[in-house]
Amino acid sequence: QIFLGIESSCDDTAAAIVTADRRILSSVVSSQTDLHADFGGVVPEIAARAHAEKLDLAVEEALQQAGVTLRDLTGVAVTAGPGLIGGVMAGVMCAKGIAAGAGLPLVGVNHLAGHALTPRLTDGIDYPYLMLLVSGGHCQFLRVDGPQDFTRLGGTIDDAPGEAFDKLAKLLALPQPGGPAVEAEAALGDAERFRLPRPLLDRPGCDMSFSGLKTAALRLRDRLIAEQGGLRQQDRRDLCAAFQNAVAEVLAEKSRRALAQGPVPVLAVAGGVAANKTIRAALEQVAQDAGSRFLAPPLRLCTDNGAMIAWAGIERFRLGHRDGMDLTARPRWPLDSRARPMLGSGK
Ligand code: ATP
Ligand code: FE
Repeated sequence: QIFLGIESSCDDTAAAIVTADRRILSSVVSSQTDLHADFGGVVPEIAARAHAEKLDLAVEEALQQAGVTLRDLTGVAVTAGPGLIGGVMAGVMCAKGIAAGAGLPLVGVNHLAGHALTPRLTDGIDYPYLMLLVSGGHCQFLRVDGPQDFTRLGGTIDDAPGEAFDKLAKLLALPQPGGPAVEAEAALGDAERFRLPRPLLDRPGCDMSFSGLKTAALRLRDRLIAEQGGLRQQDRRDLCAAFQNAVAEVLAEKSRRALAQGPVPVLAVAGGVAANKTIRAALEQVAQDAGSRFLAPPLRLCTDNGAMIAWAGIERFRLGHRDGMDLTARPRWPLDSRARPMLGSGK
């Protein structure tokens, strides 16, 4: 079985060809970072138009790089939500066109399921496992028991950590995306000089909060500026180190609790923040203490891509799932149908 996967829910236009025996024949990701750079965030209208323009080319490239044609495919999988609706619609329409034109089955995929099922594609692990999804837009713990069986154990009630890293970078006049910039500064800083709060650590459960951390960093910055008449390079580095440590500690402690709720053989992470070495090391330690394996797929498969969508499509297809031409794009689509209504960004 061979699937085409299409992803366009945020600012990456992606297409990939993946086989049921876990081979990624191609994975094309075309980023729109440059298009949105002047706006300080992703502009939905610009994103949608760019997806509409780039999708065909991405699919064509993915087919070509894989050395297959539409006739070789078993089906087409596409992100049907959650995400920026214009982009998701562009992807769904593209997938429908291909499916109808080539007479292929269509499978709509939840973007978060794509992230959550990635360790099965990269490492072939079995269910159940615990997934920490931690990116610029998401932060949640998912217990994964099957291709469509997700239990949300907790998540952020406000900002995602990546968003917090990006905002801290902005506060300190560091380049975007903030995560890598803050990590580089932190490597030269003293994490002990400043003490930032560990929000929600005193409360039971796996919910997290990161917006207070950013506010605390802002106050600290302004205090330093007021006291010294400016921010020294070393202040910046020490602040970054303190911030990174606080995020790592919160994620680690909440992971410990999530693992304690029901031991699983694997703790997996996905999302751009999983690139952070301090955070990674902290999570690895937690997994080790709980007797679980720690697994972080390669970064290009941790961030948005078409391969994870193709794979999630394959898993759904194997369960007999098919979508019709009435498949709709959904801006919101919680993975866990049992989940209580979410606070904050309810992605
Ligand atoms: P999503 O796809 O979940 O809606 P997204 O597109 O923002 O959100 P990703 O592309 O997975 O998510 O990750 C980007 C985020 O990861 C950014 O916020 C970035 O700052 C953060 N990030 C990247 N590298 C690092 C790092 N080394 N340390 C901390 N954060 C990082
Ligand atoms: Fe994503």
